[in-house]
Amino acid sequence: MFQRKAVALISGGLDSMLAARLIKDQGVHVEGITFFTGFCTGGLHHISGVYKGNEPKRNDAAWVCEQIGIEHHIVNIVEEYKDIVINPKHGYGAHLNPCLDCKIFMVNKAREWIREHGFDFIITGEVVGQRPKSQRRETMPVIAAESGADDLLLRPLSAKLLPETLPEREGWVDRDKLLDIHGRSRKVQMALAEQWGIKDYAQPAGGCCVLTDENYSHKLQDFWSHRNRKDYEFDDIMLLNMGRHLRPRPHFKLMISREEPETRFMEGYRKSYGHIKTVSHSGPITLIDGDMRGDEDWELAARITARFSKGRNAETVTVRIQPKGEEPREIEVPPLPPEMIEKSWYI
Ligand code: SF4
Repeated sequence: MFQRKAVALISGGLDSMLAARLIKDQGVHVEGITFFTGFCTGGLHHISGVYKGNEPKRNDAAWVCEQIGIEHHIVNIVEEYKDIVINPKHGYGAHLNPCLDCKIFMVNKAREWIREHGFDFIITGEVVGQRPKSQRRETMPVIAAESGADDLLLRPLSAKLLPETLPEREGWVDRDKLLDIHGRSRKVQMALAEQWGIKDYAQPAGGCCVLTDENYSHKLQDFWSHRNRKDYEFDDIMLLNMGRHLRPRPHFKLMISREEPETRFMEGYRKSYGHIKTVSHSGPITLIDGDMRGDEDWELAARITARFSKGRNAETVTVRIQPKGEEPREIEVPPLPPEMIEKSWYI
């Protein structure tokens, strides 16, 4: 029998993993696709070498595909995705997450991909009623229609609650073996995972996207407000994930590295930003975003940097100041006392 081919959108979470496996188990040739938007912290930490905790970092999407034995494709959509984040037609979720537009965009990209690669249909791990914005029963047909995928889009986990799709009508997959999961509870998915011996999957539903994170969204909003334009480059969104961000004056922001891998990573941006590095004590690198208006600003930035160095309790710390495009100079400053670092400076 002619084997049909499906591409599964793989986030790295349990739902897309189960959806892909359900269809693969029906004899369909399944391959996974993950779109790299630049907002997945897992991806950023891989690139930067920054890690949290003792567990080695893994790429969840690649791991999922390996677990279910399917080929994995990563497609970079960083440039095209900007318009989705900047101007989402359907608006944002709780933070700066344009989930509905994002889903439509990704399914549309998957539709282009299956056309180019001779595949027959698309699978997602969407579950009716699981997410308030993008996975409501009413939004499911919106995604199918606006992405242009229409009935080539199959959601195996909730298929029985949704109209029949082409793969079901044509008998490429057996609708009776698809599921009717709905709502926010993840009990059915967890039971299925257990039944299939799948352990160690990413929590929650694969959300490594920092746009759903309140702190990250706040930093992105601050970035837009102070640049007076809603735009970004890939490096900007990378750096919003790195270091402490403090805005001690409205006209400049400090990005201060927190740990050694982060310092090494942020040192790669020395040529693009004015920066400060401690000399007499080991310490962070501080990248400066904005407009330094004189020695007073540099001294304040140097004293804050010294506060986050190993010389925090020393009387003075020597720092090298490097304004962008100018010669560096060294100055000696007393670290700023912690009580003088205002909470409102933290972005
Ligand atoms: S969480 Fe991020 S990646 Fe996922 S749908 Fe929302 S915006 Fe897109």
